[in-house]
Order: sequence, then C-alpha cells, then structure tokens
Amino acid sequence: MNEPGKLYVKTFGCQMNVYDTEKIYAFLQDTYVPAASEEEADVIILNTCSIREKAENKVYSQLGRFKPLKDINPDLIIGVGGCVAQQEGERILKRSPSVDVVFGTHNLDELPAMLEERKKSGKRICRVREDTGTVPTADAPRVMGGRGATSLLTIMKGCNNYCAYCVVPFVRGREVSRPASEILDEAVFLVEKGVREITLLGQNVNSYHDPDTGAGFVSLLESMELLPGLERLRFVTSHPKDFSPELAHAMADLPSVCEHIHLPVQAGSDRVLSAMKRGYTSRQYMEKVELLTKLIPEVEFTTDIIVGFPGEEREDFELTMEMLNTVKYQNIYSFRFSSRPGTAAAAMKDPVDADVKRSWLPELQDLQNQITAEKHRNMVGREVEVLVEEKDNKKNGFLEGRTRNNYIVHFPGDPELLGKIVRIRLTNSRAIHVMGEMVN
Ligand code: SF4
Repeated sequence: MNEPGKLYVKTFGCQMNVYDTEKIYAFLQDTYVPAASEEEADVIILNTCSIREKAENKVYSQLGRFKPLKDINPDLIIGVGGCVAQQEGERILKRSPSVDVVFGTHNLDELPAMLEERKKSGKRICRVREDTGTVPTADAPRVMGGRGATSLLTIMKGCNNYCAYCVVPFVRGREVSRPASEILDEAVFLVEKGVREITLLGQNVNSYHDPDTGAGFVSLLESMELLPGLERLRFVTSHPKDFSPELAHAMADLPSVCEHIHLPVQAGSDRVLSAMKRGYTSRQYMEKVELLTKLIPEVEFTTDIIVGFPGEEREDFELTMEMLNTVKYQNIYSFRFSSRPGTAAAAMKDPVDADVKRSWLPELQDLQNQITAEKHRNMVGREVEVLVEEKDNKKNGFLEGRTRNNYIVHFPGDPELLGKIVRIRLTNSRAIHVMGEMVN
C-alpha cells in the first residue's frame, strides 16, 4: 500500500469555512494525513472567504508566497476552494499560475477525484457548480472530531436574508436545512469519538426547519439535549430578527446549552440598520438582550460590527459605541465596511469622508478592549468549570480551555486532562484570556 500524502489546509474567514476545512480533511482522509506545516505538505489548499475585499487580496498574496515551495517541490499541488473560488472560478487559474485546482463551495465531494486527475493528466482543473439545493454534508463522510473535545456540526447552509453588504446568499445559495435525524446521527458519532461539546452551525440557525417534520430549531436543541455524553451545546449564528423568546427560554431551561450567545448587531443606529436591511431596530435587539440577561444571569454576549457603512455619520457611529457600553459584550468581531460586488451596498453612495471613517474602527476596538479587560478582571477570584480543549501552544506545561459562558482560561496542568471538564480558580486576567489554577 502507498504511503499517504500530506495535506495542509489554510482556512480564511468564518466558522462555516472552519467546518468546510474539516470536511476537506475528511473527504481526503483515505489518501492524505494532515501535514504539520505548509513546507512538508504534498497538497496545500486555501479555503477562502470573500466577505471582505481584504480577505480576497490576502488569498492572492498568500498564493504568491507559495511559489518558492513549488520551485522546491514541482509535484506540490495547490488548490483553492471556498467563496473566492466560487465567485472567481477560472480567473484564479489565469491570475495565479501556481494554482493547480480550483473548486467551488458546492464541489467539496469532487476534490479527491480532482486531485487524482491533476496528478494523472497534469492538467489544471476548475470545477465550480451552481447551488444544488442540498447540504453537502448529507452524503459526505463523517467529519473528523474537530480539536478532540469540541466539534462543529452543520445543520443548514445558505441564507435567505440578503443583508445589503453581504455576499453569502450569492455564493452559498438559499437556506437548506439538514434532516434532524441525520444531524442527530452525526452528533452520536462525534460523542462516541470523545467530543463533549458541539457547536451547531448555520448562517442563521434560528430559521432551521427539519425538512422531514417541519420542526424548528428549539425542537432540534431539545433532541440534542437527550444525547447521552454530550455535555455542552452551542450554536452560531443567530440572526437577531429571528431570535425568539421561545429560544431564550430553551437556552435557560436546557442544561447542556451554554450561557453564551453570538448575536450580531452590526450597528447601533436604526438608520444604518435599516440601510443594511437587517430587519430589526436597536430597541428590538436590546429587548432580546434584556430577556436573555433576565433568564440567564451568567449569559455572555459576543457580536459582529461593521464600521463605516455607506452614509453612516459620526452620530450613527456613536450609537454603536453606546451599544457596546450598554450590552458590555465579552468580545466583538469588528470590521471596516468593504464594498462587495453584486451586493445592494455596492451601489450606495457615501458622502462621508473615507479618511474620517478610517479612525472609527480603532476607536471602537479601544473601547471594546477596555470592556473586555474589565470583564476579565471581574472574573478573578471566581471558581469556574472549564472544558480542557488543547495545550497552551505558547507556554509549556499549560493547558487551554473554555468556560460554559465562553471565557478562555489558561492554567498549568497535565495533558492527560485534555477533553476533561475541570474546576479552576481564576487568579489573573490577561487581554485575551484569564489565568487560573486547578481546584483539588
Ligand atoms: S444574515 Fe445577512 S449577514 Fe448573515 S449570512 Fe445572511 S445575508 Fe449575510
């Protein structure tokens, strides 16, 4: 039998792409094992994201950096998948001579055959098919178990919302949910492999509907709750307009559902939210935050924010700053607005000076850093339950894990504790995590 080759997948962008990367490894697991670095790989794949222009440029500059590797090893195969591949297709082959294979977001299952074909024929290949209306995980081999104790699990793909700035509905297609029976089967498989925490994944999990029974997302959470051995359940992403009181109550009542929610607000100004076509006002968003805080006192919020949307004025931006001060997010994922071809926002005029807007993002991030630091300081002295996820790769003898409400904790410990849930007393705060020690 031939030695398996080595595969390195570099992932850009969102959680959906992280999951697709796991699927790429799974589809190729019969012929390739994961490589520790790009340098030792026989196949390098870039799983790309086109949500921001900057991310797209990064892909091309990354491809340029691979050229010396190809000079050393002419048999090295370089592939490009994900949203940039779905949109750009053949253009990638034209623009980057080192690329051998381009595959779209709906072509993951064809990848093993494409790599074989490239090896045999020496021809460069591009396959980008239109949305097939099915979730590609349906017939996929079982995904690998993420980082061991935790795993992502896709429950739906695509999005029907068409927010004014977003390319996802164009590249990922319309919403399609997987049957609950299939999701539960995969969850059982993951738990049997030692996974203790599952994150259910979809662009908008709140609009999940079982195609076999019509049952919604809360019903899926209730079924997951019954799985023996599954300790923690998370989900992402939750569109605020579809986040129902019923779901808030389910989060409070189901013991496995963690006390953390990612609820992307995008902006604090109603004028900007309306231009973004988000479908809620800041007051409606706050009502959901207030209900969750009342039902789940330990709950923590994270969010996404776009700064400098076309037409956004300083007073709109200040309402976003106010939102940060009111909600006290644990963390935010914030970006400067970036115009994407084909979206409604691409056609919008912006009378506000771009140089003025450029300073807003660091201002927002400074405020959030202060809020996060304060929240980390407030955790010191508390005793928490931590699921140990991995070794601290910067500090020998230390481990890294996460509390139920999403604080990252580092502490000294034996690698045998990986995958276990331990009690930790928090001792010091840091910018990104909290330090602690095990409680006997
Ligand atoms: S909800 Fe809006 S931002 Fe999220 S994926 Fe859909 S269109 Fe994009």
